[in-house]
Amino acid sequence: MRNSEKMFQFFTIAHAFLVDIYRATYYGEITIFSYVQYMLTQLRINNLHVKVDEKEILHGIDLSIQQGEVHALMGPNGSGKSTLSLALFGHPRYHITQGSIFISEQDITTLAPHKRAHLGLFLTFQSPQAIPGVTISTFLKQAINAKRRAQQPAQPSLKIREYRDILQNTMNELQMPPEFADRYLNSGFSGGERKKSEILQMALLQPTIVVLDEIDSGLDVDALRIVCEHINRLRKKQQMGILIITHYPRILSYIKPDYVHVLMDGRIVTSGTYTLAHQIETRGYEQVTARL
Ligand code: ADP
Ligand code: MG
Repeated sequence: MRNSEKMFQFFTIAHAFLVDIYRATYYGEITIFSYVQYMLTQLRINNLHVKVDEKEILHGIDLSIQQGEVHALMGPNGSGKSTLSLALFGHPRYHITQGSIFISEQDITTLAPHKRAHLGLFLTFQSPQAIPGVTISTFLKQAINAKRRAQQPAQPSLKIREYRDILQNTMNELQMPPEFADRYLNSGFSGGERKKSEILQMALLQPTIVVLDEIDSGLDVDALRIVCEHINRLRKKQQMGILIITHYPRILSYIKPDYVHVLMDGRIVTSGTYTLAHQIETRGYEQVTARL
């Protein structure tokens, strides 16, 4: 890396640090301890109970994800993984009846979904919705500019050329053809194309915490590798905290998790390191959790 690039990186980090201190003091009293905690804890879920249509699906989830960490949430179909991701984003059908969710020091339990996004949270949907009539290009531009305005009201919108460059470069990296940007969002996309379109959104919105709900389903081996390489690059560049939701351990060999949690019937029944994912791969959920 050239010296000028190192200097630039140093000033970027120093600037982010000062902005953080400003925000920390703005949101409340600051002590060294609370500040360190504020800096490190990105997402904190406390004793979360979630009801869908009057039925309790999650029965008290505790999970903390710090900056730069990768957590995997595994569990058989129907265990409540998607319920957790949708509750994290404030889906109106998913009612939080007990517990809380924090991003850094801010309680987001009842915050509107777009405000959660402005605080740096990003979710890739297991089944993304199609929006015929809205092109990817228009959709992403609006989303980026809305986030910029929310973070700094005086910030001008991205210039068209600047936006086009960012979009095309990112699409190149994801090996998406340029004309993809002019297609209607998710309309008539294959499973793999939908997943790539989700990752494209993630790359452009630069979140600090991402929840990837079964990003591996519908992707063939090559597409999975490309998507995972991209996530790993973003992870390094942005120090993102990542929650990978999956029931197949294969994705975890591309994006190595620091922690693995197993969800069964709405409860995290065990947590461990990558070895746990490996055990699940060889012996299955039933055997791994039978000893508990
Ligand atoms: P997973 O993602 O682990 O496969 P889900 O969170 O999708 O599991 O589902 C957990 C349980 O909650 C299942 O029994 C499912 O039928 C139920 N459930 C999830 N969403 C809804 C919903 N919108 N309406 C009714 N039941 C739901
Ligand atoms: Mg699911």
